[in-house]
Amino acid sequence: MLEKLKEKLVQLNLELPKNNLVVWTSGNVSVRDPETGYIAIKPSGVTFEDLTPESMVVLDLDGEIIEGALKPSSDTASHLYIYRHRPDVFGIVHTHSNYATAFAILGRPIPVYLTSQADEFGGPVPCGAFALIGGEQIGKAVIEAIGDSPAVILKNHGVFAVGPSGEAALKAAVMVEDIAKTAMLALQIGQPDEIPPEVVEKLNERYRNEYGQK
Ligand SMILES: [Zn+2]
Repeated sequence: MLEKLKEKLVQLNLELPKNNLVVWTSGNVSVRDPETGYIAIKPSGVTFEDLTPESMVVLDLDGEIIEGALKPSSDTASHLYIYRHRPDVFGIVHTHSNYATAFAILGRPIPVYLTSQADEFGGPVPCGAFALIGGEQIGKAVIEAIGDSPAVILKNHGVFAVGPSGEAALKAAVMVEDIAKTAMLALQIGQPDEIPPEVVEKLNERYRNEYGQK
């Protein structure tokens, strides 16, 4: 079942190593099927090059496995928690991408130093509390901290990005690493100025309403 969705999910997962957001088997992507409401997620501990549509695991929102022979990602309970609390979310990407996670290690939100961050995120990237891996705690920490940002970093852990599709969540995960990297480089050579919140708001509004092709 959900053949197209599982194929797309493999492609989205493969974008993580392609964009240098993960190493080895870390990181994962899940998507929600708009028709059935089922969630498809990467299996646990399988290398990216070995992922196939058949190896994806399909679950309902309560964690019952609907289809799939492999154990789902160890972050599954947290992904499900996020989907249950955010009906607008149809894709979740989790990585330990280096630059964003460096801010996470310090428990520091990423301030708005860049116009591209104002455009994409409309504010600082928030940092949520430390949470243990395995249950729903990570999902709870994400929901508590994320607000209406497309991404959040969690203390001592990494990045969770969400979106109205798997692609949108992936884009947010790529963008958060890009802005974190540039911010980190700037912090090596001086103390950057933050863009004032009222200017951030203007930039964000222009980007949402005017940027790109209509
Ligand atoms: Zn993780």
